[in-house]
Amino acid sequence: LIELDRAHLVHPVASYRGHEAMGVRVLKSAKGATVTDDTGHSLLDGFAGLWCVNAGYGQDSIVEAAAKQLRELPYATGYFGLGSEPAIRLAARLAELAPGDLNHIYFTLGGSDAVDSTIRFIRYYNHAKGTPQKDQFISVEYGYHGSSTAGSGLTALSVFHAGFGVPYDWQHKIPSHYSYRNPVGSDPRAIIEASVAALRAKISEVGADRVAAFYVEPIQGSGGVLVPPAGWLKAMRAVCKEHDVLFVVDEVITGFGRTGPLFACEDDAVVPDLMTTAKGLTSGYVPMGAVFISDHVYDTIADGAGEALVGHGYTYSAHPVSAAVALECLRLYEEGLLDNGRKAGKRLMEGLRSLADHPLVGDVRGRGMLAAVELVTDKERKTRLPPEADPARRIFDRAWQNGLVIRAFANGVLGYAPPLCCTDEDIDGIIERTRMTLDQTLEDK
Ligand code: PMP
Repeated sequence: LIELDRAHLVHPVASYRGHEAMGVRVLKSAKGATVTDDTGHSLLDGFAGLWCVNAGYGQDSIVEAAAKQLRELPYATGYFGLGSEPAIRLAARLAELAPGDLNHIYFTLGGSDAVDSTIRFIRYYNHAKGTPQKDQFISVEYGYHGSSTAGSGLTALSVFHAGFGVPYDWQHKIPSHYSYRNPVGSDPRAIIEASVAALRAKISEVGADRVAAFYVEPIQGSGGVLVPPAGWLKAMRAVCKEHDVLFVVDEVITGFGRTGPLFACEDDAVVPDLMTTAKGLTSGYVPMGAVFISDHVYDTIADGAGEALVGHGYTYSAHPVSAAVALECLRLYEEGLLDNGRKAGKRLMEGLRSLADHPLVGDVRGRGMLAAVELVTDKERKTRLPPEADPARRIFDRAWQNGLVIRAFANGVLGYAPPLCCTDEDIDGIIERTRMTLDQTLEDK
């Protein structure tokens, strides 16, 4: 398998160059929060695949929902006014669960095309309003908004631009709130003031008559799980309102119980104009994303008959099997998984905070079942690990050997996003195996 993989399978965002001995790791099976590879090595999945298996592995009722739908009607297009019962019921249920007036749901295959679709919806919106010159977009440094060509421009992480650059000049960035390394210090009020000033300055630099939308993650995930101070999201939302700039919240990671509530923006009592989701929507069992569109945006796009004319779509939009899986995931979230996730998230944060006095730990942050530990070699100076420490490979590899899957970012941040079904023992195992991994890393130095 390792040879076949190297010869034929092109991996996204990975290279074995310099690590030829490692090769691909092949997962064979999984149950709950535990995955097992093809050598029989069992690991706690502290990252829920790619922050997506919120419901946990091996949920029989999800498998049954998919099988039933596969037998009954495996495919129906949303084109030509066609549809399927699970897709319609899912849209209605999501609208019911969403904050505020996010009542219109556009299904995609994942998060990247959900973000890409918002760019188009916002363009339709400004054309319909007679303000087509509003075609500039602002996002946040350290932000990740997918890998589609347009969405990757909103992403502000250089690794995702490698080899092709930032494709557009209509995308602008403001600095992140990154509390641990913010030049204004860690005082929440100062951080909010600095971000508000930066957004105002950027809108005025680009021109309020030109800026269409501002994109944020409630917690920046791929940038290193950067948690803004309470009130930050609300303050940014207010600036957007002042300048008639649409506020887009990207909940692809944070949605579906990851941080406690169903959607993280509920924590700040913020209602976006558009919201993107994916991952936990179907818990990784099958692919699906969803764009939530508010009444006022949808109604502006809509023609006289009250129906928005949408000029883009995908063969697998609103896939009935994905919709059936999503409906079952929602049922599981409501019937216990959200509660369990909140309980497990508290234990996870307490456990990770107990590592704060480890010589390598500079910062511990997170909310609910989304957390990070930032490693440093000098706590006072907050010195990042040297490149030869190669956390993305060496710490990841060490954790793997210790029976733990984590995300080890290249800059020495360890990311955690375990399934919401974790038991106390699962969480304690994640903490214990992290401590073991950190001790071994320290011995290496
Ligand atoms: N937005 C955010 C905030 C994400 O974290 C991701 C994926 N990590 C995406 C968009 C893209 O989603 P996908 O990988 O499903 O295309």
